[in-house]
Amino acid sequence: MSASTRIPPIAQPFVSDRAKKTLDLVEEFVEKDCVPADAVFSAELGEGEKRWQTTPVVMEQLKEKAKKLGLWNMFLPKNHFKQGAGYSNVEYGLMAELLGKSKIASEATNNAAPDTGNMEVLAKYGNDAQKQEWLVPLLDGKIRSAFLMTEPDVASSDATNIELNIRREGNEYVLNGSKWWSSGAGDPRCKIYLVMGKSDPNNKDTYRQQSVVLVPAGLPGINVHRMLNVYGYDDAPHGHGHITFTNVRIPVANMVLGEGRGFEIIQGRLGPGRIHHAMRTIGAAEKALEWLIARVNDDRKKTFGQPLSSHGVIIEWIAKSRIEVDAARLVVLNAAIKIDQGDAKSALKEIAQAKVLVPQTALTIIDRAVQAYGAAGVCQDTPLAYLWAGIRTLRIADGPDEVHLAQLGRRENRDRKDAVVAKLKWQREESDRLLLAAGFKAKSHL
Ligand SMILES: Cc1cc2nc3c(=O)[nH]c(=O)nc-3n(C[C@H](O)[C@H](O)[C@H](O)COP(=O)(O)OP(=O)(O)OC[C@H]3O[C@@H](n4cnc5c(N)ncnc54)[C@H](O)[C@@H]3O)c2cc1C
Repeated sequence: MSASTRIPPIAQPFVSDRAKKTLDLVEEFVEKDCVPADAVFSAELGEGEKRWQTTPVVMEQLKEKAKKLGLWNMFLPKNHFKQGAGYSNVEYGLMAELLGKSKIASEATNNAAPDTGNMEVLAKYGNDAQKQEWLVPLLDGKIRSAFLMTEPDVASSDATNIELNIRREGNEYVLNGSKWWSSGAGDPRCKIYLVMGKSDPNNKDTYRQQSVVLVPAGLPGINVHRMLNVYGYDDAPHGHGHITFTNVRIPVANMVLGEGRGFEIIQGRLGPGRIHHAMRTIGAAEKALEWLIARVNDDRKKTFGQPLSSHGVIIEWIAKSRIEVDAARLVVLNAAIKIDQGDAKSALKEIAQAKVLVPQTALTIIDRAVQAYGAAGVCQDTPLAYLWAGIRTLRIADGPDEVHLAQLGRRENRDRKDAVVAKLKWQREESDRLLLAAGFKAKSHL
């Protein structure tokens, strides 16, 4: 069954014939070209310091092939941008799921974070000169980028805490401060940082103190002084940088949208980006389920004389995983449809639901697959350990679960409490009235 024939019925009316054809092409490209090349990419990176200076040849070969197949920049939704491949969010969502089955497929098709979010920022908020200088080469896959918001010295899930100072001096801004978890900053092709800092720290409106500026990588005063590991994985050559800024000077023309507009920009940036991660994570969950099924049907490795698949508990793992991944996919596609029908702002609730639910679901499924493999599941012989480490970070990155849950819970409570309390009161009173009319005693209620 090809990918286009597996589209959930709820999403089918929103997927064009053109997108269905592309979806099948993406599946073939991912399963036949990218997944087998994942190991080649790792081998070409090699060991030690070399890992940070190498662009694996296989990546450039895959990019060439993807471009020829028309599998390029599918993430930029047609309703909101003219520079993309002309698909909606829900159409891209189905494609991104497939990309999530390979380590390298997203970059090979120029749909990789953080470039996707950064390209959206430049396309949406950049002026013509900024677009020409940075958006054009990013869209072409010639350079890469990083988004620098999180800081080591403050709790960055509350972005009003951000401290990096952006001070105007004549025709320049001067930047001082430090950032960490700057994903992508390790790549030698990373040429531009989108940096969020405070340009007006004393503004009474705490949401107007921040700005986003464009900072070319490698300027004097920038020091990428270490790369951070994720559960021991370095994610080279992409990496997660800890970077300091000491009197870094940029022209005032590098301000995006205007001073004090930083919050507006990060909110615009994170909406679709959060959903892209969720979409790819569905693919990772499917991959874990495939590996689980492969292990429990491996005739060479029987326990107590039987293949693992003949044990009831294992069959139950498969069933539960199927239910959970199918349910999570519907939540993601629902959020994508909601964005398509309005914009990311009108779909905040649905985006948050997907952002919280999908990584938790995928982690449960990956954990079952690890368990089925025994010790092999935690080592480098399956993709499961790396998948788990990467997806575990999604419960923190782009805002921790607790922040999204607090916002979701507050909104649900605020929007529903009056109507719910009034409805239940009315139902109790109506019930009493009907009981009395029928000759019974009225019930006592809470
Ligand atoms: C792999 C990875 C890649 C990343 N890439 C980037 C990147 O490219 N650019 C970038 O700028 N950042 C990036 N980050 C950083 C990420 O966005 C932040 O780590 C995240 O926003 C949380 O900020 P913090 O680490 O400062 O945690 P803190 O703000 O210190 O929060 C710590 C914990 O407090 C709890 N908490 C917070 N708020 C509440 C609340 N309201 N109620 C209850 N509990 C709460 C949560 O459990 C949270 O995990 C990345 C992180 C990871 C792990």
